[in-house]
Amino acid sequence: MVAEQARIAENLGVIQQQIAEAARRSGRSEDDVQLVAVTKYVGASVIRALVASGCHVLGESRPQVLWSKAVELADLEIAWHLIGHLQRNKLRRTLPLCQLVHSGDSQRLLVEMDKEAKREGSAVEILLEINISGDTEKHGFDPRQVAEILPTLAQLEHLKIVGLMAMAARGSSAEEARRDFAALRELRDQLAGDCPDNVTLRHLSMGMSNDFQVAVEEGATIIRVGSALFAGIDR
Ligand SMILES: *Cc1c(COP(=O)(O)O)cnc(C)c1O
Repeated sequence: MVAEQARIAENLGVIQQQIAEAARRSGRSEDDVQLVAVTKYVGASVIRALVASGCHVLGESRPQVLWSKAVELADLEIAWHLIGHLQRNKLRRTLPLCQLVHSGDSQRLLVEMDKEAKREGSAVEILLEINISGDTEKHGFDPRQVAEILPTLAQLEHLKIVGLMAMAARGSSAEEARRDFAALRELRDQLAGDCPDNVTLRHLSMGMSNDFQVAVEEGATIIRVGSALFAGIDR
């Protein structure tokens, strides 16, 4: 356990250093970049070591796993982010547990989320997931259609759309990913020029273990890092 925590702390230190350097290369500060620690590979005991090392914003890609970990770790101070596809029949249990949903990936889902948020009397913060690489197996809005659909989404008054999220094309190198990240930033800049009042596009959630430095250089404000945090840990 102690060795585990030391290893995670060491990995985290390296990642934070890399974030700071990449932020500086893009003329920003590391404080402009939120690290979401993706815990989908590990169980509760490793997550405890992670939180003890100072990570309090955690990402899970599967709603049911998020439910069970949230219960198991209820004694810890954790802000959970959902980063994977959310089925509409899981909304009711998932939304109250999440600080931010990265995977707002269809109009149908957003309409149902809005209804659920209204029922709960709460506001839900979400990112619009964009299928920036055009991969047919990926979820997300078609980047060519977002501008047209955004005013309609903005009318969902119990949702707060605070940015965009994307993944680079499967199997791409960090430098190949740069093209996708730059495209997401350009899309954001283009949409921000004519943005409905209750929508802010301040966040760009992009970059994972293999490409987060490039993502930060291209303007990421949130990165989602899993494997790099757990290098050298039995999981
Ligand atoms: C698993 C996952 C990550 C983290 O991936 P790593 O390569 O392990 O850092 C980030 N984002 C999403 C959406 C994921 O599913």
